[in-house]
Amino acid sequence: MLTIRHICPSTTRLCLCQNIKLFPKTVYYASTSSVPIIDENKKQESRPEYPLLDTKFNQYQIAYRYRHSLELLRGYLVYRLFSINLLVNNQDKIARLGRRILGEKLFQKILKLTAFGHFVGGESPQEIIPVIEKLQKYNVRPILDYSVESDDTNSSASSDADRLLDHNTAKFIECIKTSHDICGANNLIAVKVTALIHPSVLKKLNTVLKSLGDRLILPPLFELINQDKSNEEIITSFQQSIHSYFQKDQETSSNVVLTPNDLMDIYKLLIRLNKIAQACVEYKISIMVDAEQTYFQTAINYLATELQRYYNKYNVPFIYGTYQCYLKETLDCLKHDLAFAEKYNYIFAAKLVRGAYMEQERRLAQEHGYDDPINPDFDTTSQMYHTCLDEVLKSTVKRSPNQIRIMVASHNEDTIRYGIQKMKDYDIRRGSSIISFASLHGMSDYVAFALANSGYKTYKYLPYGPIEALVPYLFRRAQENRSIFLKADKDRRFHLKALKDRMINSKN
Ligand SMILES: Cc1cc2nc3c(=O)[nH]c(=O)nc-3n(C[C@H](O)[C@H](O)[C@H](O)COP(=O)(O)OP(=O)(O)OC[C@H]3O[C@@H](n4cnc5c(N)ncnc54)[C@H](O)[C@@H]3O)c2cc1C
Repeated sequence: MLTIRHICPSTTRLCLCQNIKLFPKTVYYASTSSVPIIDENKKQESRPEYPLLDTKFNQYQIAYRYRHSLELLRGYLVYRLFSINLLVNNQDKIARLGRRILGEKLFQKILKLTAFGHFVGGESPQEIIPVIEKLQKYNVRPILDYSVESDDTNSSASSDADRLLDHNTAKFIECIKTSHDICGANNLIAVKVTALIHPSVLKKLNTVLKSLGDRLILPPLFELINQDKSNEEIITSFQQSIHSYFQKDQETSSNVVLTPNDLMDIYKLLIRLNKIAQACVEYKISIMVDAEQTYFQTAINYLATELQRYYNKYNVPFIYGTYQCYLKETLDCLKHDLAFAEKYNYIFAAKLVRGAYMEQERRLAQEHGYDDPINPDFDTTSQMYHTCLDEVLKSTVKRSPNQIRIMVASHNEDTIRYGIQKMKDYDIRRGSSIISFASLHGMSDYVAFALANSGYKTYKYLPYGPIEALVPYLFRRAQENRSIFLKADKDRRFHLKALKDRMINSKN
């Protein structure tokens, strides 16, 4: 039986007094050899007759059953607004002006009645309950996404800033409990690492890790944290591995040096992540570690992998990582991580996305004169997405289907059709956890609800949180829907069609 050490909430020091049982005997087993492992793909072998799926995704009648007529009208109007280039290009300025003229309160009210209302679940756990219940009624599982993120790499560490990071940790744990209480066990929540550390330190760690050719030299961090090691020992072990690497190979060494304060901040991040992972185990909820900008992503991927190495060992994928297929380096990174999971024998769990920060990444590359990290065009990104999915599925044969979980997180109909075809090729049954599909709340419902209706495991990211914290998220949705005009157009047309159908039916 594996135990993890409880961490005192008031301090970053480990407290030796309390051991909590990580895997109660009746639910999980430490030794995979002594237990019959349930084959994910054979579970529920008595296959129900699923309704046929229209793979052209025109079943709009299925999609909007969970929306009131007024919500359909709002959806239609929001998509109309997002098609106005002038508005989307100047959303920052317009938001500032709106705040100044209307005042913060009225501005927020208008947001809540429009884009926030459409794309976001609510401001608090209480507000999202009815949304969750409606999604679940149609077999769509929510991934609660308490939205806090930070991109302020100039912010400096302070005790106030530390308090905010601890507050965010508590919010993620609350989110895990909410997910468990409302949706039951075996559900997912999303976590953003930038909400748990000063972005400037994460950026430094990113630079250092990027310059390390071989991350294998680093110690297994979460194993150290959950052993009887003091914080000094853990920091020293991490620091020494990096130093000895640079001494061996001066040429790859970066100019960035992690100061003792940075190392302490990184240590606090590990403690925060460990606390969140402990809550996952306690409530049997998994976390999805979101991918962010490239100047953070190597570090985020490293931390997600380290968490998986420790927490995904015992037949439950508690931790999922994320791979952004718009990055040139993603296929290599994914292959490396699949091999790493095989070597250390843990479940590889991840979602595949195209990537949400393309405009910013390209602008920064141009401004600072380094190579654009983004694939040259959309088709190359799509090709990489499909190749990444192929690579992961090959592992289900090489290892075992139980050791792999992959989520196709996309609104792209070709990519979803590709995923469905691959399920057939690999004889993966519908409803299996090996492959699932996910989209964002308020987007491509005509795809998500049709998939769920036909028995595919389907999720919706459901963001919630204070309105001001969600403004960057809403801006990204506006930009995205402008750049994928045809899809946004389909969303808009189907909202209107569903609304018209309702009006006609109510007259008859
Ligand atoms: C459930 C879920 C979770 C997500 N989590 C994350 C996350 O953790 N991190 C993250 O970064 N994003 C995340 N996203 C957002 C995602 O990365 C995409 O921005 C979004 O889903 C649009 O891509 P698509 O595959 O859905 O649709 P598509 O229609 O295929 O996407 C169009 C998008 O492709 C982009 N694109 C990519 N590469 C190129 C290129 N080389 N040239 C031109 N255009 C290109 C465009 O920006 C455009 O927005 C998530 C999305 C979903 C659905």
